[in-house]
Amino acid sequence: MRILVVEDEKEIAEGLQEVLCRAGYESDAVYDGNSGLDYIRTGIYDLVLLDIMLPGMNGLDVLKTVKGEGIKTPVIVLTARSMVDDKIAGFDHGADDYLTKPFDSRELLARIKARLRNGTDLTGDQNSHNLSAFDIKLDQSTYKLSRGEKSVKLSGKEYQLMEYLMLNKGIILSHDTIASKIWGIDDQSDYNCIAVYVSFLRKKLNFIGSEAAIVTKKDIGYSLEENDGKKHS
Ligand code: CA
Repeated sequence: MRILVVEDEKEIAEGLQEVLCRAGYESDAVYDGNSGLDYIRTGIYDLVLLDIMLPGMNGLDVLKTVKGEGIKTPVIVLTARSMVDDKIAGFDHGADDYLTKPFDSRELLARIKARLRNGTDLTGDQNSHNLSAFDIKLDQSTYKLSRGEKSVKLSGKEYQLMEYLMLNKGIILSHDTIASKIWGIDDQSDYNCIAVYVSFLRKKLNFIGSEAAIVTKKDIGYSLEENDGKKHS
């Protein structure tokens, strides 16, 4: 899961990123409204934490633009102002939730979890953290990938890549999108890096005997599909 922090006060942005990191989320931070809008439009974020008072475009205008473009990424608005009018304006522009600064990190994480749960194809009861696609399940708290009784533990990057593929099963994900999503927008990781992790995941899918396969789309990227019996390399 990758979260975008749009907050001009760098100390607060860093604090947020630290809280997110400790909770196991990847994050990027930008410090003005226009960059916020550009980053949100990449579509690689699962959630946005958006400050209202920002240099350049303010948070409410960013929100209005994003929602006007039909972008579904959940947005939690952060603001120092606790005025009721601002909260109403935020919700009017399509904010999914609202937090007034200063906030408690536990409250922040609880709100994030609630928003992510709403948009995610989670199976089972409220306490379940299993994501499923085809015959495989991914446990979001233990990082275990399983099929039936067989399971294997994934490393951090493997987990992120697998989760991303599962959430978008059957859809072709481009090299660029995968690189930005998993390694971050500023990271210049080359495509070989993705290929390496794909090969790790294929071995693990093979190990648990899954029918799900990460299929190479030549010159484009990858998609998670149900195995058609052919070998994918
Ligand atoms: Ca601010």
